[in-house]
Amino acid sequence: MTMEFSDRIQRVEPSATLAISSLASQLEADGEDVIDLSVGEPDFPTPENIVNAGEHAMEDGHTGYPPSKGVPELREEIAKKLQADGLEYEADNVIVTPGAKQALYETVQTLVDDGDEVVLLDPAWVSYEAMVKLAGGDLTRVDLAPHGFQLEPALNDLGDAISDDTDLLIVNSPSNPTGAVYSDAALEGVRDLAVEHDVTVISDEIYEQITYGIEPTSLATFDDMYERTVTVNGFSKAYSMTGWRLGYLAAPEELVSQAAKLHSHSVSSATNFVQRAGVEALQNTKDDVGEMVEAFHERRDRLVALLKQHDVSVRTPDGAFYLMLPVDDDDQQWCEDALEEAYVATVPGSAFGAPGYARISYAADLDRIEEAVERLVDAELL
Ligand code: PMP
Ligand code: GLU
Repeated sequence: MTMEFSDRIQRVEPSATLAISSLASQLEADGEDVIDLSVGEPDFPTPENIVNAGEHAMEDGHTGYPPSKGVPELREEIAKKLQADGLEYEADNVIVTPGAKQALYETVQTLVDDGDEVVLLDPAWVSYEAMVKLAGGDLTRVDLAPHGFQLEPALNDLGDAISDDTDLLIVNSPSNPTGAVYSDAALEGVRDLAVEHDVTVISDEIYEQITYGIEPTSLATFDDMYERTVTVNGFSKAYSMTGWRLGYLAAPEELVSQAAKLHSHSVSSATNFVQRAGVEALQNTKDDVGEMVEAFHERRDRLVALLKQHDVSVRTPDGAFYLMLPVDDDDQQWCEDALEEAYVATVPGSAFGAPGYARISYAADLDRIEEAVERLVDAELL
């Protein structure tokens, strides 16, 4: 028998970031000493108080189905956090999801129909394109690479791309893969376009706490944005909780009640005891987050300085833990060579709509980052 697969699923490829990371793990399992700068995952253990809170929650019997949209304590705590950022959300505006990825997936499914137009700012994280294609949407891509990955000088291009036919715009600041943090002026420009053309905006703020000397502003705090914005965030990056799978969306209640249908029919909920650990993360982890961000900052500075020593000039990222390294036109081949000849795993820029670059995740020990640069130089890849 030949199975017939849906058009929908055949439109997309597996996640490039996760695929390269499993290739690197496979090589490691085969005994190779791979420096994995591919997947975007903090290398720190989850802070102890969060782990303890998760364990206690299990011991206390929080192992059954929780309310679909999330346990009330966590939804309250998330609303408090968002209010402290100047946003107007209440607990009822929040859906807790197994990872921010699921929050994005549910939002796209809720908003995008066949043939709807969705605008992405390139380079863009790999999964946005796949999510839009799965929903049947059409993509319009605005390339920020010629503008040093910054949105501000590119607003004219964005103005050309957005029209009354545009249904959705996805903004991700701090950005994966560029580390760019968009200025208030740029976000105001986004607001003006969104209002003029009546566009809904997803603001993916998962790296919001990981910035270096810059305070990002949340998009829905701008006038006229609350009602047209879905704010997405999660615990994976700031609290080093990637495997716990915990994230959320916050949006006006009309969107929440629509997305909640998909949520209840698909994942049911995020894991009960994980959500309890999420409360602890939001309440008592400020110092650990500060220390992790400091470590990322030091690594960023060291990596940029090392590259400079080898005459590679890069745009210094202001947030997240990624850096776009200019490489050969054939970035796919460059990344393959880097893995096979230097045992350094990176992700081809093409996966993000940025050919000619490789994305480096510097969420790794300083000595490993230094060794990675040395290996790339020795292999004549830098
Ligand atoms: N958005 C961006 C920009 C990301 O880099 C990631 C990383 N996986 C996610 C969303 C999803 O994160 P998670 O599902 O682990 O919360
Ligand atoms: N977001 C991270 C990355 O870009 C994790 C992997 C993924 O979910 O894509 O590497």
